[in-house]
Amino acid sequence: MSATPATDGPANDMGLVVVGAAGRMGQTLIRAIHSISGARVIGAVERADSPHLGKDAGELAGIGIINVPISDDPLPVFAKADGVLDFTTPASTVEFAGYAAQARIVHVIGTTGCSTDDNARIAAAARHATIVKSGNMSLGVNLLAVLVEQAARALDADDFDIEILEMHHKHKVDAPSGTALLLGEAAAAGRGIELSGNDVRVRDGHTGVRKTGSIGFATLRGGSVVGDHSVMLAGTGERITLSHHAEDRAIFARGAVKAALWARGKKPGLYSMRDVLGLS
Ligand code: NAD
Repeated sequence: MSATPATDGPANDMGLVVVGAAGRMGQTLIRAIHSISGARVIGAVERADSPHLGKDAGELAGIGIINVPISDDPLPVFAKADGVLDFTTPASTVEFAGYAAQARIVHVIGTTGCSTDDNARIAAAARHATIVKSGNMSLGVNLLAVLVEQAARALDADDFDIEILEMHHKHKVDAPSGTALLLGEAAAAGRGIELSGNDVRVRDGHTGVRKTGSIGFATLRGGSVVGDHSVMLAGTGERITLSHHAEDRAIFARGAVKAALWARGKKPGLYSMRDVLGLS
């Protein structure tokens, strides 16, 4: 198979490294970059024990050879890149944030499940790197978050209870999803409260009655579901449901490339997808 070599793009194209290049999102990112003008893949990184080291990233992603071998050493590729797209694991994302800050390049983070400590380290790296981080890179979910915030503001906590239901494929390892938490944050912002301390992430056994103003989460896992989210505002005698259904990972990948192109040349800081999409 053959395709346009990665080195053939115009000189001012944004050179992007995909870390986690053999993963579900990594391969989708390689395909997305290849189809979007203004960006090209210049590096692909995987963990040291990956069976895919040395393979061509384009060939693995199904677009043919792009002359970008998958490596386990991020430093040389970060040094020649303009940005890195990172959908990996919290521990590796924190490490990559340090390298991206050293290289003073754009870091787009889609990894979910980061702890408070992980997020503090990422925020520290954002003093030197331009970071865009979001639990969901799609236009649809970020618009949904705006609508959820408005609905939560308009409907009083005494009258409407907010519950967030999500379903993902059986391989997902963190819960609630980053998107569910993003939507929870939006609901909390609409209510003028912090999500932390008002969230109910699990219910089991004799839970007692629902606490007024709390924001509940329910998690389903199974099959190949890319991502379904519903935010319910349940009142007495009526219920509003705001939903998003992701059918293809390409929506997240296209959003991530858009974020990288947007962030190029922006001053260091921690930005969100809402900033990228002008929804802030
Ligand atoms: P995956 O397991 O298919 O892929 C992760 C890849 O990262 C794997 O190939 C793994 O080998 C690689 N990896 C792990 N540690 C590494 C390291 N230190 N160096 C290099 N590579 C490393 O998972 P996935 O379904 O692609 O999801 C990845 C992450 O992206 C998850 O946190 C998921 O929740 C998140 N995600 C976010 C969005 C969004 O829009 N923000 C959308 C989809 C998925």
